[in-house]
Amino acid sequence: MGQENPYQMAVKQVQSVGRLLGLKEETIDGLSKPRRELTVNFPVRMDDGHVRTFTGFRVQHNHARGPCKGGIRYHPNVSLDEVRALSMWMTWKCAVMGLPYGGAKGGIICNPKEMSKNELERMTRRFTSEIMMIIGPHKDIPAPDVYTDSQTMAWIMDTYSMSVGYPVPGVVTGKPLEIGGSKGRDEATSRGLMYVVQDAARILNIDLKSSTVAVQGFGNVGWHAARLLAYEAGCKVIAVSDSSGGILNENGLDPLEVFEHKRATGSVKDFERAENITQEELLETDCTILVPAALEDVIRRENADLIKAGIVAEGANGPTTPEADRILREKGTMVIPDILANAGGVTVSYFEWVQDLQFFFWSIEEIKKRLKDLMRSSFAAVHGVSKTQEVDLRTAAYMLALKEVVRAAEARGMFP
Ligand code: GLU
Repeated sequence: MGQENPYQMAVKQVQSVGRLLGLKEETIDGLSKPRRELTVNFPVRMDDGHVRTFTGFRVQHNHARGPCKGGIRYHPNVSLDEVRALSMWMTWKCAVMGLPYGGAKGGIICNPKEMSKNELERMTRRFTSEIMMIIGPHKDIPAPDVYTDSQTMAWIMDTYSMSVGYPVPGVVTGKPLEIGGSKGRDEATSRGLMYVVQDAARILNIDLKSSTVAVQGFGNVGWHAARLLAYEAGCKVIAVSDSSGGILNENGLDPLEVFEHKRATGSVKDFERAENITQEELLETDCTILVPAALEDVIRRENADLIKAGIVAEGANGPTTPEADRILREKGTMVIPDILANAGGVTVSYFEWVQDLQFFFWSIEEIKKRLKDLMRSSFAAVHGVSKTQEVDLRTAAYMLALKEVVRAAEARGMFP
């Protein structure tokens, strides 16, 4: 894993679709470069009294269509290039969904599994204060991502609010309900993914009730995806994995039981009603639907040919390299691209932000209905372009997104 530079991968995607659309090279060049990049090195006092210097980033790729939006991740492999790529993917994701945002992303190089809650809180608060000048409810609105959650967002909201002197719920999304979070935000990425999987199955004439699913990653996105695909869509989830390994039972796993097992033991491995498998075997499981819901760069040239699923629904950002994409396309695998498949998260983030700005909150029924409508119409638009232009879904989604961003930039014109 982690062989392809994610930023180079993101640039390649823009270049190939930009050229297909006939965009000028200078436009493609502009879209390939993030507008603003902030690197911060900052001290945090650890529990044992010593001071450690952490490195964090906030990158704003594009704000032609509105304030910037995107998560913050905590992971040892975070790098500026990774955050650049992720910020760019947020721009396209928001454009495909018609959300009035540009893309951003942030990250801190750290291993949250080895840090105490107090250390995480001090690191989060100091990082917030370091990036404070470029975030805000009308500038750039962070959200959870890999190894950050509603508690992390609460600390960011509080730090920002204490600094300006009044509560600003709209500065982050994915907050706890008590401080302006939205109902349904926790499961939103996975619920959106389920809706587009249902659309894809309808098009391919696949009956989800007799379909099997493998899910890579059992964090927020993977767990809710397994749960919703099993309990609401009626699929049989046969394999799941997390960073320590995977499990398989061809007769089906109960995601809730696996969740309880992970809570008790720390990983999905060694679940008694399943056999242990490797991460690689998980990806190559004989199943109808594969959901990569962990990190980028896992479906690559070397293993793309071994993927047996007919539908790959990208819960993670950037799990498939451009080379692997080509191999899957030639095999006839339907890849529902990340910028559509996992866009339910930022969509409900948008709902949360709108609720925060109005101090007026919606019911869960309203959230689900609006999410379903937006996912369905975006899937239909992307699928429509893929049919008329005879391209795969990723290319179609990029064509729609790039056009929207270029149109907005042209309407605004250039300053000065
Ligand atoms: N981190 C999520 C993503 O990659 C959510 C971003 C957001 O809600 O702003 O889409």
